[in-house]
Amino acid sequence: MKNIEKIEKKIKGKLRKNVSLKGYNTWKIGGNAELFFEPLDVNDLQNFLLLQNDLDITFLGNGSNVLVRDGGIKGCVICLKNTLKNYKILKNGEFIFEAGLSCMKIAQITAKENFTGLEFLCGIPGSLGGALVMNAGCYGGNIWENISTVNIIDKNGNISCRNKKEFDIGYRNVNIKENNYFISANFILQKNKLSNSMEKIKEYLEDRRAKQPTGLPSCGSVFKNPDNAHAANLIDSLDLKGYKIGGACISEKHANFIISEKNTQSDDIEKLIDFIQKKVYQEKNIFLETEVKFIGNKK
Ligand SMILES: Cc1cc2nc3c(=O)[nH]c(=O)nc-3n(C[C@H](O)[C@H](O)[C@H](O)COP(=O)(O)OP(=O)(O)OC[C@H]3O[C@@H](n4cnc5c(N)ncnc54)[C@H](O)[C@@H]3O)c2cc1C
Repeated sequence: MKNIEKIEKKIKGKLRKNVSLKGYNTWKIGGNAELFFEPLDVNDLQNFLLLQNDLDITFLGNGSNVLVRDGGIKGCVICLKNTLKNYKILKNGEFIFEAGLSCMKIAQITAKENFTGLEFLCGIPGSLGGALVMNAGCYGGNIWENISTVNIIDKNGNISCRNKKEFDIGYRNVNIKENNYFISANFILQKNKLSNSMEKIKEYLEDRRAKQPTGLPSCGSVFKNPDNAHAANLIDSLDLKGYKIGGACISEKHANFIISEKNTQSDDIEKLIDFIQKKVYQEKNIFLETEVKFIGNKK
């Protein structure tokens, strides 16, 4: 932390102290980041990482799959929500997208070019970087399916290109090394012979609006689906829709969604998650693993 003033003079992006993270996650809750950096571009990000040497680093995309705890985050949050949004369309269906681009934008860009394979991304409110970490997916697709390579930066600012084969890609999980972060990905897509990508996007969005509480603050599915079961059905079968702890409430529309009402504490959500896990285990003998990532410290 002692070199922050020196670093500030050498970078181009915005570096701020004690920033509320409520505006940077889709539950709109949680404490502050001790330091909060939004790099101007990849060079700026690299420069920042080269200059710092003692900071704890936490990457954040659109904050749509994290529970930011009430005590906030020590060290520096590097947030790509408003940056790293460049992309290139190469020949033969090759696309390069930077990690800060939203999933929605990527779905639209590729669909407009009449390439298929990423339409499913349209309703996922995350960034590409977050989607890569989570192996985000829905409607039968997942983000890693059409990837050839990814570019990674480490905590010391070293950039490397990695082949998809180097990763173990599982259900909502990818084995990226500690202190390594995604900065871009190359996709290879097929031409859409049916030219129906925009229609698919419309259908997917309508389906979501019908089944999910899309306008309310949530993180999407809180729990992973266990083998041969749906987390939402298990929770619903225990009549828990509408159950509340503090301002945290199990959605009436989709039992795997927790909605945060005004003034909800992250701790309310954590207690509700714990309650659901215990109840489902007691009644069904199944442990629901969380999909959402917990970051920061308790108050
Ligand atoms: C309404 C709603 C619907 C959703 N529907 C779906 C769905 O259908 N399918 C699905 O899979 N998910 C869904 N999600 C969950 C979420 O949108 C995805 O997991 C998304 O990919 C997370 O991206 P993000 O940028 O918001 O990641 P964040 O929440 O910002 O971060 C997630 C994790 O990735 C890390 N991280 C973020 N960026 C980087 C980076 N560049 N490099 C390294 N680590 C990084 C963070 O530290 C954190 O651990 C939904 C969420 C909501 C709110």
